[in-house]
Amino acid sequence: MDFILSEEQKALQKKAREFAIREVLPVARKYDESEEFPLPVIKKAWEEGLLNLGIPKEYGGPGFSLVDSCIVVEEISSACPGIATSVFDNSLGAEPIIIGGNEEQKQRILTELVNEFKLIAFATSEPTMGSDVAGMKCLAEKDGDEFILNGNKFWITNGGFADYITVFATVDPEKKHKGIATFIVDTKSEGVKLGKHIPKLGQRSSNTVSVGLKNVRIPKENILARPGRGFILGMQTFAHTRPAIGAFAIGCARSAMEYSIDYAQKRETFGRPIGNYQVIQEKIANMYKDIEAARLLTYKAAWEADQGIDNNLSSAIAKAFASDVAMNVTTEAVQIFGGYGYLRTFPVEKLFRDAKLYQIYEGTSEIQRIVISRFVMKRYEHAMPYLGKKRS
Ligand SMILES: Cc1cc2nc3c(=O)[nH]c(=O)nc-3n(C[C@H](O)[C@H](O)[C@H](O)COP(=O)(O)OP(=O)(O)OC[C@H]3O[C@@H](n4cnc5c(N)ncnc54)[C@H](O)[C@@H]3O)c2cc1C
Repeated sequence: MDFILSEEQKALQKKAREFAIREVLPVARKYDESEEFPLPVIKKAWEEGLLNLGIPKEYGGPGFSLVDSCIVVEEISSACPGIATSVFDNSLGAEPIIIGGNEEQKQRILTELVNEFKLIAFATSEPTMGSDVAGMKCLAEKDGDEFILNGNKFWITNGGFADYITVFATVDPEKKHKGIATFIVDTKSEGVKLGKHIPKLGQRSSNTVSVGLKNVRIPKENILARPGRGFILGMQTFAHTRPAIGAFAIGCARSAMEYSIDYAQKRETFGRPIGNYQVIQEKIANMYKDIEAARLLTYKAAWEADQGIDNNLSSAIAKAFASDVAMNVTTEAVQIFGGYGYLRTFPVEKLFRDAKLYQIYEGTSEIQRIVISRFVMKRYEHAMPYLGKKRS
């Protein structure tokens, strides 16, 4: 077991941190206020090789491991969670191609994403369906070698600016997960309607839109997963991207903790800095302890994915734990700042709003707990003798 970052990882962390401080932090508040899409920042990330993190070297990408990607996104998220979500969205959109694409698709799309500044989004969710992926209604109708898509996708991150979207749709809603297929949709195709930005509580710089699909013809070469394979591909994708959500949450929490340390040392009440009071010290100690635990769980989930180990369980644990840590830490940070914590002029207010999303997207905290409890209740092997007879 080794808990030390390699020299390459330390260099990558330094590069990402410098990028975050130079390019992201100065504009974080501006984009949050305006809800404008931070296209110049994302383009800069692409120019500096910090977009498309997981695209393998054979397609021109950096070929970062998932642990490496987590190191990068923690840094970017610590400067602005919303911008980090939009920067990492190319990794989410491209992951189904990396996992499930054929050689021609990988050569064509992955190489293009690396060589040109292109955005790729990911779409399972619909207006009436988020958690219950198998309950999707967007229809994929077979027409010879091709498919025709009809339906609406909702909440699609970067959707308004995407060149491609990996779209999950069903050949028959009655078939549930067995009917789901995956397609690479070129957003220039006839029938694709990218909606307007949907205003949000937090992470307001990340673009969130609906995507309408009306008789969108999908050529044979853009079929990514045949009916029945799409659901599995979606779940495999989440197992690879949920650790990164853990890393986003850690970056967000880390900044809230750092601001809290700063403030606790400066703000005085009753003639002493509030950081002298044990109640405040305990809050900060808990922040640090929980962030450390979240990072270890996140790295473990990412490491398992890198080793080719099934990380469905560890990624659910990491995402659920780190998301709760981000929410708790930012809540306590607002508390430490007192009235100033509630003002938009101080940074913890934004982090508090930004943190909430981690408990919702890419599978809510409840859904992660369902994944975990399914394992614990059905497959977990007791170390100690069973009480009475072992269940069958
Ligand atoms: C800002 C933002 C960006 C997003 N980006 C994308 C994107 O790029 N692509 C994409 O496809 N989707 C995206 N999503 C959608 C996101 O993944 C869904 O919102 C999420 O999965 C929850 O789905 P829902 O909103 O439909 O909630 P629902 O599924 O309706 O759930 C409502 C509540 O019920 C709980 N619940 C549901 N089922 C159960 C159960 N069986 N047991 C216990 N509790 C349950 C949920 O946890 C939640 O608390 C995004 C969402 C947001 C807010």
